[in-house]
Amino acid sequence: MVRAAVCTAVGSPLEITDIDLPEPGAGQVRVKLVAAGVCHSDLSLTNGTMRLPLPAVLGHEGAGTVVSVGEGVTHVAPGDGVVLNWAPSCGSCHACSLGEVWLCANALAGAGNVHAKRSSDRSDLHPGLNVAAFAEETVVAANTVLPVPDGVPLTDAALLGCAVLTGYGAIHHSAQVKEGETVAVYGVGGVGLATIQAARIAGASKIIAVDVSPEKEELARRAGATDYVVASETTAREIRGLTGKQGVDVAVECVGRAVTIRTAWESTRRGGRTTVVGIGGKDQQVTFNALEIFHWGRTLSGCVYGNSNPEQDLPVLAEHVRAGRLDLSALVTEHISLDGIPAAFDNMVAGKGGRALVVF
Ligand SMILES: [Zn+2]
Ligand SMILES: [Zn+2]
Repeated sequence: MVRAAVCTAVGSPLEITDIDLPEPGAGQVRVKLVAAGVCHSDLSLTNGTMRLPLPAVLGHEGAGTVVSVGEGVTHVAPGDGVVLNWAPSCGSCHACSLGEVWLCANALAGAGNVHAKRSSDRSDLHPGLNVAAFAEETVVAANTVLPVPDGVPLTDAALLGCAVLTGYGAIHHSAQVKEGETVAVYGVGGVGLATIQAARIAGASKIIAVDVSPEKEELARRAGATDYVVASETTAREIRGLTGKQGVDVAVECVGRAVTIRTAWESTRRGGRTTVVGIGGKDQQVTFNALEIFHWGRTLSGCVYGNSNPEQDLPVLAEHVRAGRLDLSALVTEHISLDGIPAAFDNMVAGKGGRALVVF
């Protein structure tokens, strides 16, 4: 029996309760969590923006230690430190055959998924995004478990599993920021802060952080932002003012709202690139007129999981951590217990803080 945070239904408060896990079967691994980040996607599952089968154990940004492995698992052994990959690729669908593993058609199909049971009534619980990391322990399919590279503390490693792969990938894979380019980052949460750090690592000459809250300026500047803009109706104009009237080369939107996507696009130069990382709802309509699409010659791209291949990217990220370029602990603004997750959700809705990290 272990404690876990369970989403019972859309719109209901999270339930912190005891669950029972099965022993790992063939191709499965049991992991004792060390830390798990509270990501906006967890909130999106509870408020219905994203839909998955419920009730479910939430949490998808985790790291921990292998407790035991089932038959046929050879890439990790008990005692190993691991990062959880919530979107394992199948290797055989069309996207995977193109090497675009972040778009794997089967990433959330739940192949090999392990269902825990609520201890009180023995009811079945889905693993929210494959890995069910808001629990003291979890049993997962072996392909969701990646060894933690040397030199990365396990507590920090949790963030690699979602926020950092996403933010780093937005800059390096999706927008492909080159040295000397100017970048605007919209939304200074966990992913936004990782994006700012990635832009710094890429050698961006100017990094403009944008957020509705004036209180995040210090956090943004510590991550590498050179300028800070409190979001308003004049944000795009302010950004043009900071870039010789041109607009930035690259905008990364980490919010997922129509108005922010539109502003991000407007704040880029002619020919600029906008990458949308934020996950918005179906009610968020972004509009463009035909003439402006032609005139500005800009690009607007979606970005899933940072367009990353976790197996290839984790060693690269670890190298940045070891060299001191990537500061994972700087993304965390709060260390909490499982019981603190509902309050962390409230803070996200209110736009407060960076990443809240559950430490077990
Ligand atoms: Zn996430
Ligand atoms: Zn696939």
